[in-house]
Amino acid sequence: MAIYLARKTIQSLKPYLSARKIGGVGTIWLNANEYPTQNNDVYWASELQTAALNRYPEPQPEMLIKRYADYANVLPECVLVTRGGDEGIELVIRGFCENDEAILCCPPTYGMYKISADTFGIATKSVALTTTHCLDIPAIARALDGVKVVFVCNPNNPTGTCVTEQIIELLNITAKRAIVVIDEAYIEFCGEQTMAKYLAQFEHLVIIRTLSKAFALAGIRVGFVLANPPIIKLLQTIIAPYPIPTPSAVIANLALSAPAIHQMHANVAKLLDEKNEFVRQLKQLPQVVNVIESMTNFVLVEFEDGPVVFDALWQLGIILRNQHHLCNNCIRITIGSKSHNDCVIKALKALNKPKTFNSQIKG
Ligand SMILES: *Cc1c(COP(=O)(O)O)cnc(C)c1O
Repeated sequence: MAIYLARKTIQSLKPYLSARKIGGVGTIWLNANEYPTQNNDVYWASELQTAALNRYPEPQPEMLIKRYADYANVLPECVLVTRGGDEGIELVIRGFCENDEAILCCPPTYGMYKISADTFGIATKSVALTTTHCLDIPAIARALDGVKVVFVCNPNNPTGTCVTEQIIELLNITAKRAIVVIDEAYIEFCGEQTMAKYLAQFEHLVIIRTLSKAFALAGIRVGFVLANPPIIKLLQTIIAPYPIPTPSAVIANLALSAPAIHQMHANVAKLLDEKNEFVRQLKQLPQVVNVIESMTNFVLVEFEDGPVVFDALWQLGIILRNQHHLCNNCIRITIGSKSHNDCVIKALKALNKPKTFNSQIKG
């Protein structure tokens, strides 16, 4: 077919294996860090009924910008609405990297930084996190030549850890050289860690946010970029003309009303309680080597034999996220509803039983 006409770099790309694409015939989905239950309000339906869908949407919905700015405690001029946080990541790379420049990221971390860069033919430099999941600032400083954008996920996916105290240092060594993107997709789970209050101080700071995680709205594809007005204006010139479908904007507005934000905070508190209980139980299991202390709605768990545990639970319809390629024997588990978390613990306990029991479970 005409694939040979495609750009060479694209022909050789492997598609990102998103949690949903991996498939599986699961009944329990704990692989995409989504909120475990629907958060729809019956009131939303009536708001949607009156939305003028014959018209193009507002390019940057004014009410939504205002509400998110209030929520994030920044000026409306500092907010861009995007098609999920992933579009924000892509826009920054597209807006700032020349063909011969690179991005820098600190694995193990979110895969989309490199994949986005790959699709534009932009190189990725990697400076691994230290064994204590901190930024290796001296190594980053040495690697900065030709780097235009540095991505730091805080709290980090998949480790669940924060490097907040090191970010100022990173901002200092990158000043006038590179943009620093702090990906705060999970910030609602540890609100005080946000860098939003530093926007006035650092012209090269960019923050990525999303409604996909704590707000329980992964299905509407709404995210935000927070940055100083000149950067927001620049990104506005390269974003698609109508990135936010009207139904998404309507629902996002409602999700950012005062009572809905209050509800979100209550949901987060409950989920964090569930996490503590889940981790407590995980730590008692003999095949669990380590559970990294997590600031988020997921945990990275090191098992004696991660791939075997992943496959065994997959067979039972419990779909987790295998991270063995990033971090030996590790599996990332999203905190789900209490009943789903209990199923995971039960399944893991059953794996420890002698073989005769094992075959019964699989049957
Ligand atoms: C989920 C996630 C995002 C953004 O997801 P969207 O659904 O595109 O908003 C960004 N960064 C990290 C680290 C994530 O886990």
